[in-house]
Amino acid sequence: MNNMTNLYDTSKCTACRGCMIACKDWNQLPAVIEPFKGNYSTHEDTDGDTFTYIRFIEGEDPVDGFYWNFLKYQCMHCLEPACMEVCPRGAYSKTEWGATYHDPEKCIGCQYCTYACPFHIPKYRKREDKISKCNLCYERVEEGLTPACARTCPPGALKFGNRDELLVEAEQRVKYLRANGFPRATIYGRTELGGLNKLYVLTDTPDRFGLPVNPTVSGTISFWQNWVQPYFGWLIPLALAGSAASFVTTRLLANKNGGHGKGGHE
Ligand code: SF4
Ligand code: SF4
Ligand code: SF4
Repeated sequence: MNNMTNLYDTSKCTACRGCMIACKDWNQLPAVIEPFKGNYSTHEDTDGDTFTYIRFIEGEDPVDGFYWNFLKYQCMHCLEPACMEVCPRGAYSKTEWGATYHDPEKCIGCQYCTYACPFHIPKYRKREDKISKCNLCYERVEEGLTPACARTCPPGALKFGNRDELLVEAEQRVKYLRANGFPRATIYGRTELGGLNKLYVLTDTPDRFGLPVNPTVSGTISFWQNWVQPYFGWLIPLALAGSAASFVTTRLLANKNGGHGKGGHE
């Protein structure tokens, strides 16, 4: 089955935040009120109850002058997801059509995925002791519907469809933008990290939208994959056995020394 995804076109986004509301509504997520931080962003980042938000990025360039960009941010549904690689409980999986699905039933809240993700997407939800993130509206797509955010977007800045076809559309749009005042327009998500199942048409370079130009997975991830994860099932019993052995040894020594443990009293 072909990958299905959202194409987000920054040249069409009006930053109305309708997608944020639609996401909250569909996923039954409570509002998260953040204090005013001196810019237009309502949120500084995703959180356990906010799967997507609109970034407002402003800056000044010596040549171009002032710029003000909008960016919808959420899970990138990487084709080779680092979160899935490190999860010791197999809580992450790829759907046939390309979403990175997180199953809360399997999640034990260890938070390894939060450190592995190059985009800092999975967030810890304390009240459930689990991780949460955008699942690309898995339930809707399985029923033949479009994701709630794409369904809502008034100017059509978000479009859901076949990834290959959306890439062709993105190429045409970038060509048009480059010829019409946006010489650095580019596609993001085609090749980054082996490909993302979220595509962006950017009117400028990725850094002008707060996106990593060359996102990479931390080297510690391969250490985790090769040396820790294969033995994870053994580590907890081993740690418990070690604690039990230490406890018994301490008690035996305490009895041998006349009922007083070294450096303390019973
Ligand atoms: S963006 Fe992060 S959470 Fe989403 S699929 Fe990629 S690694 Fe996983
Ligand atoms: S795909 Fe669904 S869960 Fe993901 S940001 Fe859009 S509305 Fe939210
Ligand atoms: S609904 Fe569409 S136009 Fe509005 S903020 Fe989201 S992506 Fe931008």
